[in-house]
Amino acid sequence: MHYYSTRNPAEKVSFSTAALTGLAPDGGLFVPEEIPQYTKPVLLSLGTMDFRDIAFETIKPYVRDEITDSALADIVQSAYNFTSPLVTAADRYAVELFHGPTADFKDFGARFMARAFSYLRRGESRPLKILVATSGDTGGAVADGFFDIPGISVTVLYPKGRVTPLQERQIAGLGKNISALAVEGSFDDCQRLVKSALADDSLKKRMSLSSANSINISRLIPQAVYYSAAAGRAFAGRPDPDGEATPRIAGFSQSKNKAVSGLPVTLCVPSGNFGNLTAGLYALKMGAPIRQFIAATNVNKTFPDYLETGEYIARISQATISNAMDVGAPSNFERMAAHFSLEQMKKIILGVSVTDEETRDTIVHVHEAGYFIDPHSAVGWKGVDKLRKENKIGIDAGPVGILCTAHPAKFSETVEPLVGRPPFPSSLSNAMERKVSAKTIPAEVSALIEAL
Ligand SMILES: *Cc1c(COP(=O)(O)O)cnc(C)c1O
Repeated sequence: MHYYSTRNPAEKVSFSTAALTGLAPDGGLFVPEEIPQYTKPVLLSLGTMDFRDIAFETIKPYVRDEITDSALADIVQSAYNFTSPLVTAADRYAVELFHGPTADFKDFGARFMARAFSYLRRGESRPLKILVATSGDTGGAVADGFFDIPGISVTVLYPKGRVTPLQERQIAGLGKNISALAVEGSFDDCQRLVKSALADDSLKKRMSLSSANSINISRLIPQAVYYSAAAGRAFAGRPDPDGEATPRIAGFSQSKNKAVSGLPVTLCVPSGNFGNLTAGLYALKMGAPIRQFIAATNVNKTFPDYLETGEYIARISQATISNAMDVGAPSNFERMAAHFSLEQMKKIILGVSVTDEETRDTIVHVHEAGYFIDPHSAVGWKGVDKLRKENKIGIDAGPVGILCTAHPAKFSETVEPLVGRPPFPSSLSNAMERKVSAKTIPAEVSALIEAL
């Protein structure tokens, strides 16, 4: 399988090059030259197959030439010591993507990426330095994913004072091969510094550098796995019974579930940079039983507006309570546009945007229905309500699932005043005990280069 740059289809590279360089030299994003298809036996057993086996079958064709089957099996076993349970919540499914160590979906991509990098660089003596800019969640997942991986170190840049205390501990509390820089500036400043450092020739002479933002295709492909698992289980009418600590309220009954089996599922994706939705589109193209997607955003609604008007207008992001989705210029749009025309996107994606006030109301009423939900996932929940009201999703449309992108405890600053304290998973309680160790730097490239 080859990968090409969205800005130059003739520029073809291997998976290894696409993954280890991140961004194409022309500034484009790498995309696979074709989307592979699941075999019939795999499609027929998506409802019952073990999560690790779905991961193996999904990722294999993308890395076939460079990662052996046995190495890939080891990688997915070690990366996925947690899954993405499909649970029933009120009248729909919740696809719980928050059972990994940092309690949001980014663990799925980051943990695969770390192990794939380590494998692809076997025998390499020059150490690799990974730079990552974060508004909160990415940094924690990448730090955790690469923690203690030999031959690779990570520097996370985060906007000082603009991440939650928990996120700061996840980013800057690990030590060893992970270091953190608190930048006196915004997330955009952090991203600008990383881009400049990656392009700096004197730095490139001193060390091997790479990046781990969601522009990296090796973080995106493994995210297709939980779409196929969720779609397969919803199609088979088999919500995951394994009961990984779901934040349900005692006495919550599943009997209200109206989900229908035997039909492809509609999946609602709370979106910011649109890496997650792009991975969903790959799962759909591979043959997973998905009827359509809903792209739910907060007031940063560049993409829903694009679907409505046909014009893509990037803008400055606005701050909201679902801050991991505060993106005005979603970088993965370029990838979606490389695979699909506007007309094609309109056929498979419904857009919707949700305000902070609606998000807060939703956290409250979903709690009344027996389920704790975080602000990002609540945007998705409300998005479905709005589209149903506008009759854009019919009642005969088959099962509907919300991708629950973060654990409600991860955003307890917002959730707790509204509905009380959600149960904390042990990974988050443990992280709260770490000591933050970060160096503060001004938002200047020279300060970053000096710190490295
Ligand atoms: C990163 C993130 C999102 C947005 O995902 P994209 O792939 O950038 O669209 C949504 N919710 C949470 C909790 C996140 O951490």
